[in-house]
Amino acid sequence: MKFAVTSKGDSKSNSLMHKVRTYLQDFNLEYDEDQPDIVVSIGGDGTLLYAFHRYKKRLDKTAFVGVHTGHLGFYADWTPDEVEKLVIAIAKTPFQVVEYPLLEVIVRYQHGGRESRFLALNESTVKSVEGTLVMDVEMRGEHFETFRGDGLCVSTPSGSTAYNKALGGAIIHPTIDSIQLSEMASINNRVFRTVGSPLVLPAHHTCLLRPVNNVDFQITIDHLSLLHEDVKSIQFLVAPEKIRFARFRPFPFWKRVHDSFIAN
Ligand code: NAP
Repeated sequence: MKFAVTSKGDSKSNSLMHKVRTYLQDFNLEYDEDQPDIVVSIGGDGTLLYAFHRYKKRLDKTAFVGVHTGHLGFYADWTPDEVEKLVIAIAKTPFQVVEYPLLEVIVRYQHGGRESRFLALNESTVKSVEGTLVMDVEMRGEHFETFRGDGLCVSTPSGSTAYNKALGGAIIHPTIDSIQLSEMASINNRVFRTVGSPLVLPAHHTCLLRPVNNVDFQITIDHLSLLHEDVKSIQFLVAPEKIRFARFRPFPFWKRVHDSFIAN
């Protein structure tokens, strides 16, 4: 089996990265940064986001596991003390895999029928470059509302504990194939009206945003932020691809939620 190890880049994560690499090679596993079967991400959830984007072209072949060198993460749920145990478990392949849904984002541009496709593990956000974001929101091809406000966020179930949660979105169990649309400071008065609640869409529904006036937007895909000009529409749906996590012990999602947000 081939493996790769990624690090957040701080000294604690780097030294753990070298340790994991040496241990796994001692078990005769092959280090392959380009085509790994398993990626051990060391740092935090942010580090796993980077690892996901690095290997997103081979999601059907690569599984991920995360070790946290700071606080407990949703993707990075192994502690540095457990690394020896983790290495032995990885060496004793095959391992169990759990799959989480991803978000597909298709940005279409005004001219030449151009479009770009993105995959997000946590979420995508849309903000105006200048002034209030004004977007017509369509659900399954039907006009739903005209949004006016700071921005919109569409998250995956596993991303629902990240930015989405800060926006008052619900925490969604990652076995539910869905995406969630949440508002950032919508303008609601006698003239302008939005639903005001986060919306959870099933896998066979799609949400489309159409610009009302400005056509330039700042669009984030997880930690990546890009300016998109001359945008015709932005479509969000549950992606056909999934991320695969290598599971070596039970750590139920609701326990992770409890331990991250409630327990000391
Ligand atoms: P960052 O600003 O350095 O870190 C954002 C924080 O979000 C980190 O504490 C990170 O955990 C945590 N996080 C990432 N994914 C998570 C998840 N699925 N569930 C719970 N917490 C999660 O940015 P970054 O490390 O490059 O990560 C980009 C992410 O930041 C975005 O995808 C977005 O979700 C999040 N973000 C949140 C807000 C907000 O809450 N107001 C605003 C902007 C962006 P670790 O410390 O373990 O890495």
